[in-house]
Amino acid sequence: MKNNQTSGREVLNVIGIKNIIASIFIFFIALIIISINFGILYKTKKNNIIDDNKHKAIESAQKIDSYMLTSLDTIKLSSYKVDKLISAGKSKDEILSYLEDQTDTIVNVIDENYTGLYGYIEGEYLDGSGWVPDADYIATERPWYIQSVEAQGEIVLVDPYLDSQTNTIMMTIGKLLSDGQSVLSLDLSLDSLQVITTEMVENNQDFAMVLDSTGGVVSHSNKNELGKNYLESTNSLESTIAKEIFNSQKTQFELNYNNTEYIIFTQKIRNDWYCVSVVNGTYAFKSLTGILFVSLIAILVFAFTIIFILYNISSKHVVANKLNQQLESMSHIYASMYDINLVNNTFSEISNSSKDISSMVGDSSENAKEKLYSIMEILSSERSRKELLEFINLDTIEERLANSNTVTLEYLNNNNLWCRGRFVVAERDASDKLIRVLWMVEFIDEEKRRQERLQYLSDTDRMTGINNRGSGEKKIKDLISAGQGGMFVLLDVDKFKSINDTFGHSVGDKVLITLASCLQKAFRANDILMRLGGDEFAVYVPDVHNKNSGERIIQRLISVIENTDIPELNGKKFCISIGVAFYQHNDSFSFEELYKRADSNTYISKKHTGNYVSYYENESN
Ligand code: GH3
Ligand code: MG
Repeated sequence: MKNNQTSGREVLNVIGIKNIIASIFIFFIALIIISINFGILYKTKKNNIIDDNKHKAIESAQKIDSYMLTSLDTIKLSSYKVDKLISAGKSKDEILSYLEDQTDTIVNVIDENYTGLYGYIEGEYLDGSGWVPDADYIATERPWYIQSVEAQGEIVLVDPYLDSQTNTIMMTIGKLLSDGQSVLSLDLSLDSLQVITTEMVENNQDFAMVLDSTGGVVSHSNKNELGKNYLESTNSLESTIAKEIFNSQKTQFELNYNNTEYIIFTQKIRNDWYCVSVVNGTYAFKSLTGILFVSLIAILVFAFTIIFILYNISSKHVVANKLNQQLESMSHIYASMYDINLVNNTFSEISNSSKDISSMVGDSSENAKEKLYSIMEILSSERSRKELLEFINLDTIEERLANSNTVTLEYLNNNNLWCRGRFVVAERDASDKLIRVLWMVEFIDEEKRRQERLQYLSDTDRMTGINNRGSGEKKIKDLISAGQGGMFVLLDVDKFKSINDTFGHSVGDKVLITLASCLQKAFRANDILMRLGGDEFAVYVPDVHNKNSGERIIQRLISVIENTDIPELNGKKFCISIGVAFYQHNDSFSFEELYKRADSNTYISKKHTGNYVSYYENESN
């Protein structure tokens, strides 16, 4: 499984530099499109705000202007009438009566904000609203009288003042009459202006105001500001705005105050007053910041989605490629590979070197069990068939693969070549139950033969071709530990040193080789022959348990030796001394003990001339 994991580098390789550059390009294009869109959106929104507020400022200025005009017309009309009454010589009572009637009309018909007409007419204070001044009230010393006289008949808007009792801004409009000393005035509260100003404001981040010609606040969307003078005060947003308005006379400008952007619209109205609308730009564009943020998140999500999809496609591609490579390299090793689904009992071929089998299986086949059985029956030699068919039994495979991911069997195929069959777990379910296995067959004939050769070399005495001490001993030990009783024969050439000395070492070798072939002639194929070393040999003869049966075999050996002629010995015969011991199937002593017993008898035989044999005697023999 580990090999199927993909590294980021591999995936990058598969995605390819071109694709990565393309992705980055797409990402930046998307970023640029979003930036442009946002720019347009920002500009549009800003223009909308500017247009709206400009329009609002103009409209409000017009409303205020027309409100003021009504007042001017009222005073103009009333002055004309009072002038007429004076020149017609009407009495003060008649004039007062006119003022009372007119006040009533103005308050009830025109605007309830008017408090009434009054004036200083021909040396006497007359009041249409019925207000009686205190005794110390001197009309000619009041600003409305003084300023009206100064204006020489022009209508005067006397500086507004804050009536602290009602918290409303009051204003007086006055006019000098034709006699050059009488003045008619009209008082009105500026509540209507306050209403217009408040209506200009859309949210609590914005504000609007009307400033008079001295910078005094005539109306303000925040009532607490009424009566202040912004040209005289410092260190406030409003005073900064007021100074800019009075200095620059601009109708629209932007201002940064305490890190907040403001857009300011001004309209000059009657009497050098200014109608001002202030928009908090930072607040107005806040929703746009949200849009920008969401857009950026969207583009990031978009970019990562593209990268994720590319990565996933590529990882799958890499994994698939790797699996294909692995399967391909495996198919070079394995002569045939089949994918077996144990749940569905289906069978599909991955690769197969034999075309005949291919046609038997097809791409995918039902009845995996029977198909595998019939294929392997054909593809095995008779010697291995039984074992192989048992091995490929799919009924027992779950059990055999319980603790391992693979099981193997070496067998001979129909051409008598060695093969290795292997089941590998391909898929298990969540509860570890087998779902799919691969059945693979690999040719190992060459390897097997090489192995056998190596085994033969390591097990065999080079000179004589029979078992060497190591392998012979092991085979005997295996038999006796399996309770296989038998006869152990130890033999040693007599006076071998002198053969070497007399005839030379190579003749000595020939004696040893001849003795080994005598052993092969005298004993059966199943008997274990070995050269222990030097001129010492041993044989284990299974199933021979006593001297009686053993004697015949030993005699056969002796007669074979006696009938053997080695020309190099010039007619001389070599002789051996033999010691024999038996191992019964119920014995429990060791091989070393068996050897010792035989060896002690060889020692006895040495004392005799000619081929002599002595047997280890104990009660059981
Ligand atoms: P004994 O009758 O007591 O057996 O006397 P022996 O001379 O045969 O003495 P022993 O069995 O102890 O001597 C074995 C000799 O075999 C000693 C050694 O020089 C010789 N020898 C050992 N291996 C080889 C071999 O591979 N080739 C030859 N030619 N001689 C060997
Ligand atoms: Mg010897």
